[in-house]
Amino acid sequence: MLEKTLNPFEIVQKQIRQGCDALGESDELYHLLSEPERVLEVSIPVKMDDSTTKTFVGYRVQHNDAPGPTKGGIRFHPAVTKDEVKALATWMTFKCLIVGLPYGGAKGGVIVDPKLLSLRELENLSRGYAKAITPIIGEKRDIPAPDVGTDGQVMAWMVDEYSQLRGVGQTLLAVFTGKPIELGGCLGRKEATGYGVAIMAREAAKVKNLDFEKLKVVVQGFGNVGSYAAKYMHQLGAKIVAISDSTCCIVNEAGIDVIHAMKYTIINNSLKDYQYNGSIELPREAAFEQDCDIFAPCALENAITSETVKLIKAKIISEGANGPTTPEAEKYLLEKDIFIVPDILANAGGVTVSYLEWVQNLYHYYWTFEEVQEKQEIKMVSAFKSIYELSLEKETDMRKAAYMIAIQRLAKPLRLRGWL
Ligand code: NAD
Repeated sequence: MLEKTLNPFEIVQKQIRQGCDALGESDELYHLLSEPERVLEVSIPVKMDDSTTKTFVGYRVQHNDAPGPTKGGIRFHPAVTKDEVKALATWMTFKCLIVGLPYGGAKGGVIVDPKLLSLRELENLSRGYAKAITPIIGEKRDIPAPDVGTDGQVMAWMVDEYSQLRGVGQTLLAVFTGKPIELGGCLGRKEATGYGVAIMAREAAKVKNLDFEKLKVVVQGFGNVGSYAAKYMHQLGAKIVAISDSTCCIVNEAGIDVIHAMKYTIINNSLKDYQYNGSIELPREAAFEQDCDIFAPCALENAITSETVKLIKAKIISEGANGPTTPEAEKYLLEKDIFIVPDILANAGGVTVSYLEWVQNLYHYYWTFEEVQEKQEIKMVSAFKSIYELSLEKETDMRKAAYMIAIQRLAKPLRLRGWL
C-alpha cells in the first residue's frame, strides 16, 4: 500500500475536513481553519566562528488568534519545511483548545542542524531568529517555546535579544516559555510533555481494562518527550522493554533502567553502545517490531506509516510526537481496535505547563513542582474524559472526537468576533 501523502500540512487539512464534516459545519469554517492567518519567512545572517557569514532560512506561522494570543515552539532541524511549520502551527490551535487554554496555535522553525554549530554560532542564530520574528511576537500576541533542536538556553538568549529590542529597560520574561528555572522558567516544564504522554497512556489502559502494572512499553525517540514518557510510565508500574533514538534501538526484556539510560544519553548524546544490565542494541527500526502493550512514538512526524504499522503489536498508542501516524496507518490501527491517544491530546502537557509558566511570569508568583504537575494532570485527564465520552457517543475514534471538540470551541469565538 502506497501512502497518498506524507505532507503533514495536507494531513492536518484532512483532519480538519473530517472534524467539520462530522459536526455538519460549513465549508466557510473549513476554509478559514485550513490555512494559517500569517506565515512569516525570514533569512537570518549568522556570523560563524571562521568569520564568514552564513544565511539560514526560518519561519514563524500563526494559525489562528481568535481565542487569544498564539503559542507554539521553535524547531531547529535540517528537515524543517514551510509546510511542516504550517502543520505544526495548526495542530497547536487544536491542542490548546482541547485542554482549555486561552490560546490559538503558532510554530516556528529554522532549517539548520544545530548539532553542527558551535555554542557561539547557536547563540548568534538564536538571537538572529528572535530579532527576525520580533515584529510579530509578544507576551500578549504570540509566545514561542522550545521544540526539537531548541532548549531552555536558546529561550534565554531569545528573551535577552527581545528584551533589548522591545524591553525599554525591562526584562520581558513572558514572551517565551520553556525558559531555565533561574530565568522565570516553570518547575515541571521539562518533564511536562513526557509526563502527559504517560498519564494519557494510563487513562487509555483504564478504559481498555488493562492493569498498567502488567504492561510492556516501547518508546520510539528517547529525547526530551520520550525519556520522560518512559520515566513516568515506569513510575506508574509498567515495564519499559525498548527505547530508540536516531542511532539505534535498545531492547531489554527484563526492563530498561530509564534513569540510567537518561544519564547515559546526557553524557554520550545518544543511546549508541548502551549496554547496561543485559540490554542489547538493534537498528532503530527494531522498535516497531518489539512485543509490547503500549507504543509511544516520541520522535518526529510520519513514524507510523503503512509500512511500519504492520509490525506494531501494541494495544495502545500514546502519541508523544506531533503527527507521528499517517492517515493510512491510522486506518489500519483502528481496524485492529488499537486505542490511539492522538498527539493533540497526548502531547498537550508541554503547552499546558508553558501556559502555567506564562501565567506565573505575568503574575510574578510561582508554584511548586507538585502544584504544577497537579494542575497539568487535572487539565489533561478532564480533556481525555470529554474526548473519550464524545467518541463513545458518536461511535468514532479519539482523534476525530478531539477535533470535533476543538472545532466547536474555536467556532464560538470566530462567530462572536464576526469572522463567520
Ligand atoms: P528531542 O530532539 O529532544 O528528541 C527527539 C528524539 O527523537 C531524539 O532522541 C532523536 O534521536 C530521536 N529520533 C529522531 N529520529 C528518529 C528515528 N527515525 N527513530 C528513532 N528516534 C528518532 O525532541 P522532543 O522535544 O523530545 O520532541 C519530540 C517530538 O515531540 C516532536 O514531534 C515534537 O514536536 C513533539 N513535542 C515536543 C514537545 C516538547 O515539550 N518538547 C511538546 C509537544 C510535542
